[in-house]
Amino acid sequence: MKKTEQAAVADLRDEYPRFTPEMKHTHKILVPDMLPVHFDIIVNFLRRDGWDFEVLHNDTRAVIDEGLKHVHNDTCFPALCVTGQFIDALKSGKYDPDHTAVMITQSGGGCRASNYIPLIRKALKAEFPNVPVISLNFAGLEKDSGFPVNAKLLLKFIFAIFYGDTLMSLYNQCKPYECEAGASDEARGDCLRAIGDAFERGKYRRYKAIVRSMLERFLKVRRTGEAKVRVGIVGEIYVKYSPLGNSHLEEFLLSEGCEPVVPALMDFIMYCAVNNLNDARLYNKKSLSTPVFGLVYRYLLRVQRKIIRMTEKAGFEPLHDFEHLRKCADKVIHQGVKMGEGWLIPAEMAALAETGTENIVCAQPFGCLPNHIAGKGTIRTLKQMYEHENIVAVDYDPSATKVNQENRIKLMLATARENLAAKQEKH
Ligand code: SF4
Repeated sequence: MKKTEQAAVADLRDEYPRFTPEMKHTHKILVPDMLPVHFDIIVNFLRRDGWDFEVLHNDTRAVIDEGLKHVHNDTCFPALCVTGQFIDALKSGKYDPDHTAVMITQSGGGCRASNYIPLIRKALKAEFPNVPVISLNFAGLEKDSGFPVNAKLLLKFIFAIFYGDTLMSLYNQCKPYECEAGASDEARGDCLRAIGDAFERGKYRRYKAIVRSMLERFLKVRRTGEAKVRVGIVGEIYVKYSPLGNSHLEEFLLSEGCEPVVPALMDFIMYCAVNNLNDARLYNKKSLSTPVFGLVYRYLLRVQRKIIRMTEKAGFEPLHDFEHLRKCADKVIHQGVKMGEGWLIPAEMAALAETGTENIVCAQPFGCLPNHIAGKGTIRTLKQMYEHENIVAVDYDPSATKVNQENRIKLMLATARENLAAKQEKH
């Protein structure tokens, strides 16, 4: 880097406002809308710990327009959505810019997601120069404006993600089949309250009891038992989960009478841990943290497998076992392909096909290189391996219209319905 460029970077580093520990008591922290159920659980326990968090739900066209004003449209679509959502919320007049901060997660991987923070800072500098940006990461990034994470908090995040995944999956397995309208929403509300109580009483690690109570509650939702088209959702992590990023894809599938099958967020966490271990094995990049990642991975796998067994026993479809996902990845792509969501995308598509979900939407931000290679680029191979797999790759970007995206999905659903009818005729 030239000396002038170095000076410019140093200037930018000095100019942005930092989030200091005292601000915990004076500032509201806004987080972008990504996983509604998971973020509900997380924000609830953080509020109980004295933090003033709020998940944003603004998702009008104004959000995208604000994003376009501040982020070049060649940049990743998730960066544009997140920046636009922050600026739009701050412009709404609901928040005092002198007592508001915004937070974003950083995976610490090699992809551009690790660099969204300077883009958000640049946008805020132009509109709300006093608003600090906080980084939530477990890779030691942004030490001067990061969110303090200790072992206890980390454990809380882990269990909140396990519970969020289980709740999301049980809800999706009941909602399309419920006999009484709204019964699944009531069950979800009850479970969220029970999880909140467990965190409040410090009993959040009793995952067997908590998962059992969720299973029992959803078993009370009477279901019709009819066969419906099941549609898996895979892809880049933001557009896969965020209603703003994927134009409310889950809701759309439900409105079309389908069952959305959404893989777990925990898969992405375990994917990051395994990539660290693979770096040591494949690229000789062993560090002091490598054994720690090994320990964490084994612990997560143990909890995941226990939850899978309990879910199966209750008669629900379980989420994927991560070791099974790794085996699925090995059939299609090398585990060294780890930029962005990398090998996890084809692994999930293969695992969905092997567990009876042959219809898949591969949601990808337009211009996302990792997703185009590891997602769209592997579809042909997957279709050769699983002949009934019915996949549609849908681009999400600021100029794509919802109608266009939905029409592409409707074409895929037409084939899915034909396949389902043919299967039912056979039996
Ligand atoms: S995975 Fe795609 S959208 Fe996400 S940071 Fe990387 S290039 Fe951008």
